[in-house]
Amino acid sequence: MPKPSSWENTQENSFFVDIEKILKILKRKYPVSKSVRKEKPFRVLISTILSQRTRDANTDKASAMLFSVLKTPRAIADAGESQIRKLIRSSGFYRVKAKRIKEVSGIIIKKFKGKVPDNLTDLLSLPGVGRKTANCVLVFGFKKPVIPVDTHVHRISNRLGIVKTKKPDQTESRLMSMVPPAHRLVVNELFVRFGQDICSPVRPKCEKCGLKKICKGKVYP
Ligand code: SF4
Repeated sequence: MPKPSSWENTQENSFFVDIEKILKILKRKYPVSKSVRKEKPFRVLISTILSQRTRDANTDKASAMLFSVLKTPRAIADAGESQIRKLIRSSGFYRVKAKRIKEVSGIIIKKFKGKVPDNLTDLLSLPGVGRKTANCVLVFGFKKPVIPVDTHVHRISNRLGIVKTKKPDQTESRLMSMVPPAHRLVVNELFVRFGQDICSPVRPKCEKCGLKKICKGKVYP
């Protein structure tokens, strides 16, 4: 694939081969074709809000429970907070989140005619929705080529030496300038799976890591 001229003769360009190689290696280990299929934007939005400061397994449980009973923005907006709280109890901060997802659902009904918006500005106007959540909705709900940067993407990008940043927003901006649009959809999915499996926050399994030869990280045991 030809590189756009904006990638040429830049500092970022020196990382281009590395990130393409990294994604290729990760794709071999974690086939993503099924997991990046388009999901319902409303489900992605609510599940991502539920995932905030919560372990993945507990998020999945809370999300499954919620959507087994309340499937639409209208159903959540009309439900009582106590019912929502019971359904999402496995999520951290479930009291705050019950209130928030009811509020978000009500706004989607009133302001956006029941449809989750497909642009960053409107998504960021929703309470409790930051860049990571908004970008997750754009990637997984609408297949737009952006890169949600969560704790896994931020940590792994820095460990590998792809970026040198302090904040997730800076990581997002650097990755967006380095990763060609065609590859952006899979970055979050691949890095999350790699972070859960090998490059964990504490004691990464460097000895088993397929990227150790190219990793510029400083966390080798
Ligand atoms: S070598 Fe270690 S720090 Fe580097 S990517 Fe692999 S697991 Fe993470």
